[in-house]
Order: sequence, then structure tokens, then C-alpha cells
Amino acid sequence: MTKVVVTLLASCALCASPSLQAQAELDVVSLKSAIVRSVESDYPKLDALYKDLHAHPEIAFQEEKTATKLAAEMRALGFEVTEHVGKTSLVAIYKNGDGPTIMVRTELDALPMEEKTGLPYASRDKTIWQGRETFVAHSCGHDIHMASWVGTAKTLVGLKDQWHGTLMFIAQPAEETVSGTKAMLTDGLFTRFPKPNFGFALHDGAFAYGTVRYTAGIRSPNADGLYIKFRGRGGHGATPPATIDPVMMAARFVVDVQSVISREKDPSEFGVVSIGAIHGGTALNIIPDDVVLVGTMRSFKPEVRAKMLAGIERTARAVATMSNAPEPEIIITEGTKAVINDPGVVGTAEKVLKAAFGDKFEPSPPVTAS
Ligand SMILES: [Zn+2]
Repeated sequence: MTKVVVTLLASCALCASPSLQAQAELDVVSLKSAIVRSVESDYPKLDALYKDLHAHPEIAFQEEKTATKLAAEMRALGFEVTEHVGKTSLVAIYKNGDGPTIMVRTELDALPMEEKTGLPYASRDKTIWQGRETFVAHSCGHDIHMASWVGTAKTLVGLKDQWHGTLMFIAQPAEETVSGTKAMLTDGLFTRFPKPNFGFALHDGAFAYGTVRYTAGIRSPNADGLYIKFRGRGGHGATPPATIDPVMMAARFVVDVQSVISREKDPSEFGVVSIGAIHGGTALNIIPDDVVLVGTMRSFKPEVRAKMLAGIERTARAVATMSNAPEPEIIITEGTKAVINDPGVVGTAEKVLKAAFGDKFEPSPPVTAS
């Protein structure tokens, strides 16, 4: 974990630095060595924090102890900390004269699964999740992000004579259920606190040791959840004319909906729709009353998203019309929005990080996970 955090932390602190810098030009080489020196001297404490967070993970909106630990770290650094913004999250503000407000974000939550790494600090903690007992593990690396977040704050506070402005460090709950951001926004993240000029975040990933990747523009897609119920009329499988068969409608829809992607959507634009589950029926000779399909839709651009949603709804209605069935029930649940990195901000950070990391700093194409 040592080198990982040093790299992530140095990249995060370096990202924030040019935005905060009063002078136009930045001496990246000396700044990088000052950052690395700071991280190395703080390292034993950051490592202990990481291992403690790793051993005691908490699931979405249960991150009480995690948030309390981070709040204590930030208060010790002189940040003004507000807890329970959007249930379990926290906002930490550090003012250092006139200048822009820079937001740095981490997540707090872990996943409902068992850790099988065999590490001495592996999690054996359990919780209740959706009515059942489950193990909890930091399998998405949010423990690394939290340790890097605290380390970035320590480093920036240690170098405060080299920048001016306001730091806004936020710790967001429930990333895994895609609901923590909304909870913070609804609770006044950008009205009760300063609206930042720039925001930075990082996510660990499975790529070569020591590398830092970045993307200008679209990074990850919009995600929408689909719920479609085809309503028919149940009856005996031996007498189909007396029924309206929703299994037939579901089967047609699953195939025909892909023509929205292949025939309607611009082929040069990203968009997918996948049906993940079909529920209907109980017996081999009974046509059920209805069948429910659930699925996910991903897109990068709003106009592509709108076109796909219209096509999906039209296909579902058409399939029902073909069977002379009642209108299907269609529910679209909006999930995450696409992450779009501002090319101007990326350009500024890019120059600094390229000078600091050379070939280890590389552009990365967008991902299709949200
Ligand atoms: Zn994550």
C-alpha cells in the first residue's frame, strides 16, 4: 500500500496545487519532492489509518464509525468539520486566504461480501444488509481513497505557505448504491457550503504499479434502470387463444429492443441496453398473467440517452399492441449521471502531472461502468 498511496496522494496534491497557486508557474520538481517528503514522514500514521479502515468496513449509509474517524483526522489538521451532511457524510473546510475553493472527494462505504485475502488486517466484520447478515469488505478500494484523502489534506496544510484559497474536503457515503451523492446534494452540499471552483477525485484501478491515468471529457456513462411489466391474461397453456401471453411479449421485447441500439442509435455513439432478469410464471402448462423484465441502460450523451429511452418505451408498447394486450407498465429509474471531466481543468493538471510522473502518467479511454 505504501507506494500506491504515495503516488495517488502526490497526484492528488499536485492536482490541487496549480489551482491554488498564486503564481503562474509552478516548480513541479521541487514541489513533488516536498510532497513526497511530507507523505513519507506521515506514512506510518496513514498506513495505520488505512489498515484500521480496511479491517472495519461499513456498508452504504452505515458509515458512522468511518465518518467519525475521518472527522477526527480533519479536525486535528485544523479543518472546520460538519458531520451528517446527507446522512453519514462529512464536509471539511480549511480557509487559507483569498483564492479559489477546491473540492477533494473520497467515498466512505464498503461492499456486502466476505474478504478472502488472508491479510493480517483482513475484515471479519459483519452487518445486516437488506434483512440478512453479511460480511463486509473494502473490495472497491475506498479505504485507499480515504487514507489518500487524509494524506492529501495533511500535505496541503503542511505546504500552506505555497498556496491561497479554500479547501473543501468531502467524504461521500453510499457510492456503491449510487445514492450518497444525491443525499449530500439534497442536504445542501453546494448551498450550505461554498460552491467549489474545481473538484478532484480519484479511483484505484487494476493497472500497472505506479501509474496514474486520467481522462479528459467523458469518463463514465449515465446509468438508467429499466422495469417493464407486460400485462396479459393468464390461462392454460393448451388453450392459448383464451389468453394474452406475456411470456411471448417479453421474448419479443428482449430481441427487438436491441434494434434500438443497432438501427436507431448513431453507431458512432456509445449506448447499451441489457436485460438482467425476467420474472414470470410458475408452472410448465400455465400462461401467467404478467411478466416483469428488469435491465440497465448506459449512455454517455443526453441526446443519445433520450433517443434510447424513447426507443425502448416505443418497443415495449408496440410489443403489447401486437399481442392486443393492455399497456405495459414502464418505469425508468435514473441512476448515476455521466462523469465528464472539464478539459480545461484536466489540461492544467495534465501539464503538472506529466512533469511529475513522466511516462507513468497516461491518458485512458472512457469506461462503460458508471
Ligand atoms: Zn468505488
